Amino acid sequence: MKRITAFLISAAVLLSLFVFSACENQSYTKSFFALNTFCTVTVDASDKAAADEIARKISEAEKVFSATRSDSELYKINKEGGGELSKELYSVLKRALEINALLPAFDPSLYNLTLLWGFGSEPSVPSEKDISDLLLHTGADKITLTDGAVTLSGGAMIDLGAIAKGYLSEAAKEILISHGVERAVVNLGGNVYIHGKKQSGADYKVGIKKPYTEEIVATVTGEDLFYVTSGSYERYFTENGKSYCHILDPKTGYPAESGLYSVTVISKDGTAADALSTAFFIMGAKASMEYIEKTGVCEAVFITEAKEIIITKGLKDCFTLLDSSYTLKD
Ligand code: ADP
Ligand code: MG
Repeated sequence: MKRITAFLISAAVLLSLFVFSACENQSYTKSFFALNTFCTVTVDASDKAAADEIARKISEAEKVFSATRSDSELYKINKEGGGELSKELYSVLKRALEINALLPAFDPSLYNLTLLWGFGSEPSVPSEKDISDLLLHTGADKITLTDGAVTLSGGAMIDLGAIAKGYLSEAAKEILISHGVERAVVNLGGNVYIHGKKQSGADYKVGIKKPYTEEIVATVTGEDLFYVTSGSYERYFTENGKSYCHILDPKTGYPAESGLYSVTVISKDGTAADALSTAFFIMGAKASMEYIEKTGVCEAVFITEAKEIIITKGLKDCFTLLDSSYTLKD
């Protein structure tokens, strides 16, 4: 038991969301590394087969969605400037373009910029000229999707890193349902899906990480929901005393600076939750809250650099602040 606790805590170092007492006695946790992140699936021991199938599905999905693996479908599409798409890649790319049309801050065409900044290898601040030159070759208008195929123009390259894990969380949910699983917690590097309730009948509590620490700042409860966090502290580097995070603002080509440490999106739609958390991180709390109030698309928790926490109305009864150095704004 001690080992499991230590393991879960070390997971929280890597993940921005943490689930308390994931499952009770006789649970089974499958841990694996996929999609460039640490993943866990926890189920009752009797549902081991479902957890194993999810791990297989997600590991195999790298061969579809990875922008870095030279044997992946997306890698080939980027290299060849387009081509025929599998059903899965087509549907996620289509969804990405639909979300971009609503929220341009989420932009699946920025892979060249991510490479220029060196995220995933040796990051450093590029020259202004290199950034502005590359910006000319990004944008959803460079991605043309027709029946089952895509064409990329101007050397643009696709990156589904801000949406694929959300889609795969939904695939995990389908596998849980097909196995008749009653309760489970799926955590794909900050994309958490909570399936059902604890054995005791209580709700699972999802902890939101206190920025740049291993502590929990607040908890949220709710079943059959996807919880996705995008945060500046997840992947970043520091140069000349300034921090640069891995989420890029498509307007400037520079890492987003919207005054947020993190945003957690909670929704019944896992794919949207992933893309929205990235978009909201770039847009900042005010514009994102306005969008949520107008559309009712999801619930969200914003943590600002001023140590304020802003939550959407629907979370009032299921949100608990644990850390008094942060203020919950009305
Ligand atoms: P994480 O991958 O850490 O869970 P996100 O879901 O926010 O966080 O996705 C960030 C990743 O998405 C980046 O590593 C990069 O590959 C890609 N990305 C960066 N900026 C954008 C953007 N504006 N729109 C869409 N994808 C982006
Ligand atoms: Mg995302």
